Amino acid sequence: MNIVILLGAPGSGKGTVAGALAAENQNLKHVSSGDLLRGAVAKGTDAGKEAKEYMEAGKLVPDALIAKMIADVVAETSGNTTMLLDGFPRNVAQAEILAETATNAGATIKSAVLIDVPDSLIQDRIAGRRTCPKCKAGYHVKNLPPKVEGKCDHCGEALVIRKDDNPETVKDRLAVYHAQTEPLIAYYKGKGLLKTVDGVGSIPSIAAAFLAAM
Ligand code: AMP
Repeated sequence: MNIVILLGAPGSGKGTVAGALAAENQNLKHVSSGDLLRGAVAKGTDAGKEAKEYMEAGKLVPDALIAKMIADVVAETSGNTTMLLDGFPRNVAQAEILAETATNAGATIKSAVLIDVPDSLIQDRIAGRRTCPKCKAGYHVKNLPPKVEGKCDHCGEALVIRKDDNPETVKDRLAVYHAQTEPLIAYYKGKGLLKTVDGVGSIPSIAAAFLAAM
């Protein structure tokens, strides 16, 4: 199995790009750490109960908690798949854990692709973001509106605004990104794995640039 890591700030479009590519290519699997955690919170598992407070405050959940979830998904993914890993790792300690998880599973980390979006655009992107709580499809009121306002195109479920997408929490999430996640850019550059794509533009053009870079 190959692993492609998506790097970028919250709201940079990691989930949108990975979701679009996985929908069009059977060999690509989109794995979002945020979705795994929100699923655990919704189910009320022990991990979900532990993660909930951190997530609502825009803080990172403990490394071991999310690393275990990712290791479980890696273990159950077939060998000819390329995993688009969205939201993990979020700090250098998690990057080291991922390297070990990949080695143990016989998987290769192929690249880490940064979707580059200036902070000035992030608040607007997140303010317009809507999510389907059932099938996890993502929308944006201006950039990617659903066919019927407020309803998921795929399953008809009522779209929701994520709890942690309020402007105050977004500020905290961006601060966490700059302090803890941004150092991964230098980390993967040092390993010769870093690629960068411009994250401003239409979704199909960014997805195409990502596919070419990865
Ligand atoms: P996301 O959907 O990627 O924006 O993640 C939503 C929230 O889940 C984050 O603000 C964190 O609280 C938590 N989270 C997601 N991925 C990780 C991770 N790799 N490490 C720690 N916390 C995470």
